[in-house]
Amino acid sequence: MSAPRAFRLLSHPLRSSRRLYTTSTTPLRFASVDEKLSPTVAKVAATVAARGGLSPAAVHAEGPLRNNWLREEIQGIYDSPLMDLLYFGAKVHRANFNPLEVQQCTLLSIKTGGCSEDCKYCPQSSHHKTAVKAQKMLDSGEVMEAARRAKEAGSTRCVLGEGDANCGGRGCLSCFTVLAIVLINYRRRFCMGAAWRDLAGRKSNFNKILGYVTEIRGMGMEVCCTLGMLNEEQAKQLKTAGLTAYNHNLDTSREFYPKVITTRSYDERLETISHAQHAGISVCSGGIIGLGEKDEDRVGLLHTLSTLSVHPESVPVNALLAVDGTPLEKQEPVSIFEMVRMIATARIVMPRSMVRLSAGRVRFLQSEQAMCFLAGANSIFTGDRLLTTPNNEIDDDRKMFEVLGLIPKPPNFEQGSDNPRQAEYVAAANVKTDGELAHA
Ligand code: SF4
Repeated sequence: MSAPRAFRLLSHPLRSSRRLYTTSTTPLRFASVDEKLSPTVAKVAATVAARGGLSPAAVHAEGPLRNNWLREEIQGIYDSPLMDLLYFGAKVHRANFNPLEVQQCTLLSIKTGGCSEDCKYCPQSSHHKTAVKAQKMLDSGEVMEAARRAKEAGSTRCVLGEGDANCGGRGCLSCFTVLAIVLINYRRRFCMGAAWRDLAGRKSNFNKILGYVTEIRGMGMEVCCTLGMLNEEQAKQLKTAGLTAYNHNLDTSREFYPKVITTRSYDERLETISHAQHAGISVCSGGIIGLGEKDEDRVGLLHTLSTLSVHPESVPVNALLAVDGTPLEKQEPVSIFEMVRMIATARIVMPRSMVRLSAGRVRFLQSEQAMCFLAGANSIFTGDRLLTTPNNEIDDDRKMFEVLGLIPKPPNFEQGSDNPRQAEYVAAANVKTDGELAHA
């Protein structure tokens, strides 16, 4: 049994309390736990001993920014003792960010449902029979009114995108791809999403979106889009219009991906990410845990993201919210410890990326979310709904920020240019940088 799985069996609140209170004697209870944990304890102990007492999380937390990670290295970090992951994730976080600042994002669907893609977790897919019905796209008045409200509420970045709430912050947890336009109002960033597979045959809608991007950027907010697959030219047009970031999630590992989506390939997703990066646009890309994948698949996802030429500016970590009518409706929810493990590993291997505690946060107590922030998460979605799925109440989030001493992260028009390679891309694409656009 892998380390996280064993840890989960021990630490999941419901399961562990069941184990604590239904066994007849204490010795029997510990015998049972020890039996389940023994292979893990042996594996972790061997790994730690082989490194002179240091876990892989400890070893790699001290390293430089890298995009040449080996999958085994990331697996080692992921399998480190959880308390080491938490500690070293926090250490890396503090070395790269103000740990009290958390980016706040809000998601508004401006076109919901009826997506032609077959993502198994997504209630917006027309392949599944769910309660979500296809709706028409909001008109420009509605979009700009939402942007104005976002601005008044303090937003500084706007995102236009594709997907559903499992889209990684866009709409479904995994993408706002085909049929919807979504407005994401990060209190410091405004995000719009359109659930389209791609922009083919949508010239007039794309032109409208370019106009929204320019107008909202002119209001002084960062703008982000999620519009499905992009070609090179479309990415350049979005950058020229003033786009700050583009969301396109990989969802899971290359190996597990075909078990989740068959209507578009992993390589097509990577191509879109590449087009956005080469246009000088910051990329937001992450995935979903709880789809039925193995720990190795979670590591595979992080390996792909952390070996991109430029790390994504933002990495959403979503916990599946199983929705009735989708093929994954009976999927068991992930535990907070799985989220912490994923977040801390992402923080260590992509130290300068924003790590976003995304869909599924509604299931976690404030004390559990605090662990995620400690492990390295520094962005959340705010608002009562993430497109079609519930999210934490705004008042609850406000109280949580007060209790934990967190503050909203201010806008950063230079995001995405932290990595030296980004400057090369921008120069090659002959487009303005975020900073130039911000100060234009
Ligand atoms: S996740 Fe995005 S692309 Fe997939 S079905 Fe949902 S809306 Fe469509």
